[in-house]
Amino acid sequence: MTWILPPPPQPFLYVAGQPGLFAVRRIWCVGRNYAAHAREMGADPDREPPFFFAKPGDAIVPATPDGTVTVPYPPKTLNLHHEVELVVAIGKAGTNIAPADALSHVFGYAVGLDLTRRDLQAAAKKAAHPWEMAKGFDASAPCSALLPADQWPDTQARIELDVNSTRRQEGAIDDLIWPVADVIAHLSQFVALAAGDVIFTGTPEGVAALVPGDVAVASVTGLPELTVRFTAAEAE
Ligand code: MN
Repeated sequence: MTWILPPPPQPFLYVAGQPGLFAVRRIWCVGRNYAAHAREMGADPDREPPFFFAKPGDAIVPATPDGTVTVPYPPKTLNLHHEVELVVAIGKAGTNIAPADALSHVFGYAVGLDLTRRDLQAAAKKAAHPWEMAKGFDASAPCSALLPADQWPDTQARIELDVNSTRRQEGAIDDLIWPVADVIAHLSQFVALAAGDVIFTGTPEGVAALVPGDVAVASVTGLPELTVRFTAAEAE
């Protein structure tokens, strides 16, 4: 078999402590998975269950285990928001996965930013339009290196984001409304998960605007850190 045009580059994530790369397939995201963030977005976390949306796989921007990634400040927004999130990388396919089996489908964990053109999202919500142009734009998913699952103890992990050395977001992974196993179980009822799917699990409160030149440092206890530098779009 031959291709008419060369196949596109394979999106990937680095893996801490080993030279092999993790091939990224699809990016799934969970909405409103921390109660305080649901409230700051005007939703009622007791009434509205979390839900899923997606970004293209090639929206991923992979950071090396100790590296800084550069992200072009995206066009068409005056209100680019950061959302720091625990990222789960699926290593084994499954559908209708039971919550008790869900963690056996995880290859590893990372920390990422679900970058959001909040002004476009607000307009889309108001018009009952889709969110893709608010959420699925180029380079909208910078992500740290993955840590293999068996190396992450996960006990009482904190999730934090600093912008220009000032704390913006802070929370506890234990405060996820749907924990990782439940996220995988529910998502696998809607789509067939497979190796390479990555899941952004939702953001704690404190989402706010980024401007060109900002430096964001995202961390989850025990996972490789993520440093993102935002340039002006025209500089790229
Ligand atoms: Mn998010």
